Amino acid sequence: MNFNQFNLDSRLNTGIHQAGFEQPTPIQASAIPLALSGNDIIGTAQTGTGKTAAFVLPILHKLLKGPRNKTRALIITPTRELAEQIHQTILELGKGTKLRSVTVYGGVGAKPQADALRSGVEIVVACPGRLLDHMQNRVADFNSIEMLVLDEADRMLDMGFLPDVKRIMKQLPRQRQTMLFSATFPNEIEQLAAQTLNQPKRVSIGLARPAHTVSHTLYPVPQHLKKNLLLRLLEETEMDSVLIFTRTKHRAQRLAKQLNQDGYSATSLHGNRSQSQRNSALNGFKKGQFEIMVATDIAARGLDIESVSHVINFDMPDTADAYIHRIGRTGRAERNGEAFTLTTPDDRSLVQKIEKIMDEKLPEKKLPGFDYSVPKPENHYNNNQPRQRKTSRKSKNTSYTIRS
Ligand code: AMP
Repeated sequence: MNFNQFNLDSRLNTGIHQAGFEQPTPIQASAIPLALSGNDIIGTAQTGTGKTAAFVLPILHKLLKGPRNKTRALIITPTRELAEQIHQTILELGKGTKLRSVTVYGGVGAKPQADALRSGVEIVVACPGRLLDHMQNRVADFNSIEMLVLDEADRMLDMGFLPDVKRIMKQLPRQRQTMLFSATFPNEIEQLAAQTLNQPKRVSIGLARPAHTVSHTLYPVPQHLKKNLLLRLLEETEMDSVLIFTRTKHRAQRLAKQLNQDGYSATSLHGNRSQSQRNSALNGFKKGQFEIMVATDIAARGLDIESVSHVINFDMPDTADAYIHRIGRTGRAERNGEAFTLTTPDDRSLVQKIEKIMDEKLPEKKLPGFDYSVPKPENHYNNNQPRQRKTSRKSKNTSYTIRS
């Protein structure tokens, strides 16, 4: 199968060619014809499968017919980075079309967004909060919306955006095409789909499973030796660009700082950084200016960073689904990638869940020559843990251990 079979508007060929797409991915093969014929869609697809182009191409095709200078397509997505990424895909695939797209999210100036909305930009890619502000200020005229995409709906639910999303949807024309993508379908998302989609067709490429081009290795290690083990792994493995995940923003910040002190060029991506810091971290990492980026799940969800050779889970994620999403950052589009996960005994049951989804046992490795028996330091800040605040002056000389 190739892209000609979709009979897409010929003005899209330039973009498809420049993006280097030769054959549609499975999600594109099933979703594009359905979307082109106007169906509502519920899509289950993990990131890294080509799902963005699966909705962007039909949107561009349809926008090429009909009026310009009216906002006709709205894409709602949970994170700013994801909004930027979708916007970039639109610019790339829409290169020969002169269609316009704008991103709308908080943390940056509202005026340029408002100007673009007023001008009737054809495609809006937005995070819910700021979009709602513009709607309430009557800046955005969404009476001409024909197509709505809810991307990563489950993550919007996790992040507490569902009420905003519903408020936005209430103000859109009812006569429209809606495409909802989600990796998982908790009740709330099923309900939202049942209430707002019209006889949707389901497209699924099976249960979310990491790309087969990724090899997975577990490194069991006591919590307090994680950083030492990480340094050894970084030394001993040939890595181009490494994305490291930690459980909290604080740990991401701290680890990036420590890695810099250890001579690596590392940056961090998490919600405590300003939008411009997040942008320069991400762009710097993409351009190879930083060899390592330490991130939290929310900040890195769905990011398409082409050249990640290694994903390292410094901390195990909370759910098997989050593991799959993290690992989706490497081994993309048939490139090979490696995923290393530092595990502690507490992570056992999650590892079993992941093994079940992947239908394979994940190999465990011990690094030869690494001293796993170094005891946890007493009366000393453990090098992986956030500092605990002293509760009273009396505690000044009291020794305490840090929870792992
Ligand atoms: P996504 O799942 O939308 O984040 O896409 C993941 C990556 O796959 C992106 O870098 C896309 O550029 C790439 N991609 C999407 N569709 C295709 C295709 N048909 N052929 C090759 N690469 C693709």
